[in-house]
Amino acid sequence: MHIILTLLLSFSFLTIHGQQFERDVINTSDGPLTITFIGHGSLMMEFKESIIHIDASSREADYGKLPDADLILITHHHGDHCDPAAVEKIKKESTTTVLTALAEEKLGFGKVINNNETFNYQSVQIEAIPAYNLVHKRDNGDFFHPKGCCNSYILNIGDKRIFIGGDTENTPEMKALSNIDIAFLPMNLPYTMTPEMVADAAKAFRPKILYPYHYGTTDTSIIQNLLKNEKDIEVRIRKMP
Ligand code: ZN
Ligand code: ZN
Repeated sequence: MHIILTLLLSFSFLTIHGQQFERDVINTSDGPLTITFIGHGSLMMEFKESIIHIDASSREADYGKLPDADLILITHHHGDHCDPAAVEKIKKESTTTVLTALAEEKLGFGKVINNNETFNYQSVQIEAIPAYNLVHKRDNGDFFHPKGCCNSYILNIGDKRIFIGGDTENTPEMKALSNIDIAFLPMNLPYTMTPEMVADAAKAFRPKILYPYHYGTTDTSIIQNLLKNEKDIEVRIRKMP
């Protein structure tokens, strides 16, 4: 009964001007964190009085109808993650934008943090973890995401550590992570990971909750099956194709 009640309280929908989004609430020692699942790699979070938009993309929502951002996080420069039109709609004068160097070149502003650097936004500590391909390449032989270009982020919020995977594969840096409560891992080809790669990473760093996202047409039942015996990892599928 307790579990059912908790699920009812922690899972809901947000409807804004006809756009409906799933949302989850995560309790941290510093207060609740609400996660709204916008689509693909785009997330919105609410913590205390702050709205955090991650990889806002006009392809996923009409950002003119979503709340303005106090903090914008951008994992890298590709169009599905760094969209100047979406950013324009949610940016206020006081907004802090944290991004990679190539995304800064595209937008023309923002605080650049490179792989392995950290940045504090109020009580939220942001760590940049390298996001890159090990296997998947373009026809010309270049990786879609060469090492150094792109970030994943860990958000340290109260006692919770939330890993936001940029476009990455199951790198040694990611597999070495520890104490991750929630992980968002990208799962589409050819740009990011197969379900097998996601399972390999999850088995290594063992997030308590895993949200596969950025999954396109990948069958999400595959990752659920691959991790069905890992009782300490809860796989949550949300509408994030
Ligand atoms: Zn990308
Ligand atoms: Zn992408």
